[in-house]
Amino acid sequence: MDQQPHVLILPFPAQGHIKPMVGLAALLCHTGRIHVTFLNTDHNHSRLTHLQALSTLFPTLHFKSISDGLPTDHPRTLQFFPELISSIKSVTKPLFRELLADSSRKSERPVTCVIADGIMSFAIDVAKELGVRVIAFRTFSACCLWSYFCLPNLIQEGQLPVGADEDMDMMVAGVPGMEGLLRRRDLPRICRIQLNDPLFQFFLVETQAMTRASALILNTFDDLEASILSHLAPLFSKIYTIGPLNALMRSRIGDGVPRSLSTFSNLWEADNSCMAWLDSQPLGSVVYVSFGSLAIMTRGFFMELWHGLVNSGKRFLWAIRRDTLSDAKGEQAIPVELQEGTKERGLLVDWAPQEEVLAHPSTGGFLTHSGWNSTLESIVAGVPMICWPQIGDQQINSRWVSEVWRIGLDIKDTCDRSTVETMIRTLMKDGREEIMMSMDRIAKLARDCVGQGGSSYHNLDMLIEDIGKI
Ligand code: UDP
Repeated sequence: MDQQPHVLILPFPAQGHIKPMVGLAALLCHTGRIHVTFLNTDHNHSRLTHLQALSTLFPTLHFKSISDGLPTDHPRTLQFFPELISSIKSVTKPLFRELLADSSRKSERPVTCVIADGIMSFAIDVAKELGVRVIAFRTFSACCLWSYFCLPNLIQEGQLPVGADEDMDMMVAGVPGMEGLLRRRDLPRICRIQLNDPLFQFFLVETQAMTRASALILNTFDDLEASILSHLAPLFSKIYTIGPLNALMRSRIGDGVPRSLSTFSNLWEADNSCMAWLDSQPLGSVVYVSFGSLAIMTRGFFMELWHGLVNSGKRFLWAIRRDTLSDAKGEQAIPVELQEGTKERGLLVDWAPQEEVLAHPSTGGFLTHSGWNSTLESIVAGVPMICWPQIGDQQINSRWVSEVWRIGLDIKDTCDRSTVETMIRTLMKDGREEIMMSMDRIAKLARDCVGQGGSSYHNLDMLIEDIGKI
């Protein structure tokens, strides 16, 4: 039997989870000594059309797929999240057990370690049951993860759920390390739903379950979240902070991979024509707008945002997925001023090559939903942000962006054209100098931590060594 380490990586089936985990898979395989099987759902596997190219670059990297239990034509959008998590539990879990058991019984190269997404805790239980070492990978920020661990405390103190009619600016006690920082509105979005809601219960249970893994991997870096990592440390026997993964890949693998991982791990095909458009714009003049892979918005907000962008007088590149509007009913007339303002200074695409866009010299700001990958990508590129958070860790990330790291502005819970316009002007002109001072400092810390001698560089070595012990 082959004694080389064989890691099975299981991401939650969503863009923001797949991307950093593909990055980790590539980094492990780059050693040439570690074999990785990357397990997607059948549905996502069929959408990731460039995986073969990645296997060619990294011969020890293999892809497999497994059912998520939903019918082929199921939309799998955010509104159906509860259906997805329930079907994963009932259908994917037994299939996963079978696959892992087969690997020990029949395979020439049995799986020696499972790296399971931090919200796929069934994989932790199955791996432990079958005697396979398991490490959890939580793709959120550490600051948000810590707030999830504090949920029982917040419940006990009667602070949850936060009702729609409550004072959202009231400070929250009960998340150690964030006293005087977190307002009610900065708590994860799930804090606004009923405690017995399956979604709230899901995150509550999954968070605690992660501690059953033998270690935790986070896509963050020590200098960014040291104060919060110290709160998480006692909960895990080991935490590997190896972010920003996109930058670590570039530092460790260099020219061996294209500039961004997106080509391989994108569920949507990027419209690269925007790069030529960016080439023709002045330095630092463009606001890039994207709300990631899951966020949805009403047509009302979409129009407010669009007016704000046009009224700011700044150039903008807006990546807006076709399924973004939650209440789109047929085509509706677009006001002339928006059409003209966009023709003059803007460009709309379905899906952008985001890392390339952020790295482009014409890009000067990022209007973002504060997804963790987007936040890190913006930091790596040194591009300041305007945050309009929606779900998951975004409410907390945006608070840290604006108040702790001071690398952006937070407009959470406001969605009017004048706020958008004012914030864009502030970011691009009036308040830019101060924000850029912090941004340059944090971007340098991000670059340093992935270079030789940096914390994330070192932690990846430790992880590789740990995985190598079989
Ligand atoms: N992304 C992209 N093109 C787009 C929009 C998003 O390549 O037009 C990528 C982006 O670079 C990021 C990921 O999709 O890596 C989104 O992850 P994030 O954690 O920011 O947000 P989520 O989609 O999970 O809400």
